[in-house]
Amino acid sequence: MIPISNPRGQLEQIQTEIEQTIRTVIESGSYVMGPHVERLEQEFAKKIGVTEAIAVANGTDALVLTLQSYGIGSGDEVITTPFSFFATAESISRVGATPVFVDVDPKTYTINPQKIEDKLTPATKAIMPVYLFGQPAAMDTINQIANYYGLIVVEDACQAFGATRGGQMVGSLGDAACFSFFPTKNLSTIGDGGIITTSDNKIAKRIRSLRVHGSSQKYFHDEIGFNSRLDEIHAAVILVCLKYINGWNNHRIELAKKYYQTLAPLTCMKLPYADKKGEHTYHLFCIASYQRDKLKGFLDKQGIQTGVYYPCCIHLQRAYREHGYQDGDYPIAEALANTLLAIPLFPSMTELEQDSVVHALEEFEVAQSW
Ligand SMILES: *Cc1c(COP(=O)(O)O)cnc(C)c1O
Repeated sequence: MIPISNPRGQLEQIQTEIEQTIRTVIESGSYVMGPHVERLEQEFAKKIGVTEAIAVANGTDALVLTLQSYGIGSGDEVITTPFSFFATAESISRVGATPVFVDVDPKTYTINPQKIEDKLTPATKAIMPVYLFGQPAAMDTINQIANYYGLIVVEDACQAFGATRGGQMVGSLGDAACFSFFPTKNLSTIGDGGIITTSDNKIAKRIRSLRVHGSSQKYFHDEIGFNSRLDEIHAAVILVCLKYINGWNNHRIELAKKYYQTLAPLTCMKLPYADKKGEHTYHLFCIASYQRDKLKGFLDKQGIQTGVYYPCCIHLQRAYREHGYQDGDYPIAEALANTLLAIPLFPSMTELEQDSVVHALEEFEVAQSW
């Protein structure tokens, strides 16, 4: 079976180093928010090009704590995309605010900036673009709108570590940005983890307090916070992975290039758009096909795993049924939910494996024309 992603294959290449660093943590006696977390925060901030990085328990918490640190809550609205992992909108609802969806661009699958102004109200406080599948959003236009209307921009960069726009790293393009270290993400650990980047020292300070029960001095609590600390083991593993991430991301880009070349002649599918203003990191390589489910079944029979990201748009999730959305409210997002299919692409993928995927897709194309 060729998997859709392979976190194990990635770590296998550096397993000795991972084992050594975990042993160091065990022997240190410091297990939560110790020296490794501190070093991770410093190195991560430097890599992204911001002054502060704050490590937390996972990517969802990163989003929640960031929104709360800006004072966003009940009565506020946050503009975001209906086509993302559920956690994007969930974090907005979690702080008591309302997610207001704006349909995505049919090419990049990221929030369509042309449609944002229609949805602004006096309650709008922030815009949360998502760099879906590793593709940066149209940040130049989004930042212009945000500046004009005095809105905060929180980047959901959970799928896009290493992606750039206009030569700048994602994570440095808005007021604050959130990353996840979940095992399938480009930069990941052997469990859960997350981090927030910002160059706003005041916000960083508030997030540092929020993640440890609203406390900046031990046993004195300024506000109701969270327990969202990062473990030393994860910080240590991520620090090792940080040394290899450029190579891994470059290999993803190479694999994507080969898919673009070899799959270009096929008419039964559309390839993902690569925006020339930025660098996509191919967290997922999603092709679009009107015969998506048939294609999925065909590949499955050949031992090729595929994935549907995402089969149900956020506005149509049962959790949001009280918001009264209907089929057809966000036609582009809904069309993508019905047509996209992620095919295998991961750093430890071999040439042979990729050839098998390409051949299977070629076979599907021929089988369809009969
Ligand atoms: C993974 C992901 C999250 C949440 O991260 P967790 O670490 O799983 O909590 C949020 N947004 C997007 C777009 C994601 O892909």
